[in-house]
Amino acid sequence: MAAMRSRAAKPLAAAAIAQLEADGVATLIGTVVNSAGLTHAKTVPLRRMSAFADPGLGASPVFHVFAIDQTGIVFGDAIGVVGDQRIRIDLGALRILGDGLCWAPGAFFNQDGSPDPYCSRGILQRVEDRLAEVGIDAVVGHEMEFILVGPDGSELPSHLWAQYGLAGVLEFEGFVRDVTNAATNSGVAIEQFHPEYGRNQFEISLSPQSPVAAADSLVLIRIIIGRVARRYGLRVSLSPVPFAGSVGSGSHQHFSMKRGDVPLFSDGSGTAGMTPEGESAVGGLLAGLPEAQGVLCGSVLSGLRMQPGHWSGAYICWGTENREAAVRFLIGGPSNPQGANVEVKVIDPSANPYLATASILGLALDGIERKLTLPPEVTVDPASLTDAQRAELGIKLLTPEQTDAIDALDQSSLLRGILGDEAVDAVVAVRRYEAQNYGDLKPDELAEKFRLAWSV
Ligand code: GLU
Ligand code: MG
Repeated sequence: MAAMRSRAAKPLAAAAIAQLEADGVATLIGTVVNSAGLTHAKTVPLRRMSAFADPGLGASPVFHVFAIDQTGIVFGDAIGVVGDQRIRIDLGALRILGDGLCWAPGAFFNQDGSPDPYCSRGILQRVEDRLAEVGIDAVVGHEMEFILVGPDGSELPSHLWAQYGLAGVLEFEGFVRDVTNAATNSGVAIEQFHPEYGRNQFEISLSPQSPVAAADSLVLIRIIIGRVARRYGLRVSLSPVPFAGSVGSGSHQHFSMKRGDVPLFSDGSGTAGMTPEGESAVGGLLAGLPEAQGVLCGSVLSGLRMQPGHWSGAYICWGTENREAAVRFLIGGPSNPQGANVEVKVIDPSANPYLATASILGLALDGIERKLTLPPEVTVDPASLTDAQRAELGIKLLTPEQTDAIDALDQSSLLRGILGDEAVDAVVAVRRYEAQNYGDLKPDELAEKFRLAWSV
């Protein structure tokens, strides 16, 4: 069977190579994202494309535990200097970048061809498969917020800037145009692209896609904006808090689910038009959020953003169009043709997007399977309530302490069940390393040190 597949794959690859050559492509970039949210890459000349797909290129297991400080490797009992794995690109997801480059997302495999339990793309694929097995299809739409900075991470002038202002579009007109063109040429569907609240901060929202494809698109748009920014002598900060005391950047994820043709979040008999399963999905998500926090927003900078009043969803509750709720519900209807969906606001760009999606969909499925109930909707800014009112509604804050979030993840049998022990151990290891080595820095030192840590 495997032999048949590879024989069949070869003529296809040859045809694909010929087409890519005709399009002027000479170099292929394959990427993987690790547990600290770092994007790693290997490149091959085009003639090596099929070898990159199968058997793949060698990589040490320490890729999973490279730290955000440019040098750190968090060795542990399971991951050391011995061993080698294979990164295989997914040729079905290959995209042309322009200027002789193409790109494909990669996944880790063991040398015997078995899936690597640390591989975030593989983990998300398995969550997607598990949903399909119980008859549920999910789609995910990523938002990405980012701040443009100088090549050394320095703050750019912002004399002409208003929140969501036209000035931001015109000041960076070439950047906006080139990103839009490049995204179109590479097949990334941008829903909207606009200046955000923070100075020199922008947001791009992507169209919903199946979970793995959606996370791949997020990686691709990061590559695109990174390339275009360089053309203008700029860099893109993907830090959750590029400047201390200022606006943070989120990496919110929207998702919706269907059972067959029936959406779980629209046209139902329950609260806000949800079906009973939709209610349980949101219930599961909320119940598991404190344990998932270490995956969704667990870096040493994430706690600085996880504060009330930052629209980062620091309160564990849900509400229709409530931007201070960790889970914002968006109703369907004529003004929302994609249909009702759930936005998880707490996720930030330091997270591995594959693991973040795997966590939230896994929690939603857990809620469905355990028929969890939906907590009461919160229709106001939770900060405007008294402590007693919040206690009555069961609204708590996500912790701003990274060490607490990591401990909760480490002890979570729920998240270990969804992601597997290996992935949880790797996330815990790299995030604990951050806390131990940098947790004592002052917020401005921390923001400066890691402003470009996740940039590509
Ligand atoms: N920048 C905010 C964050 O850190 C989000 C603002 C918004 O709601 O778009 O998540
Ligand atoms: Mg935004």
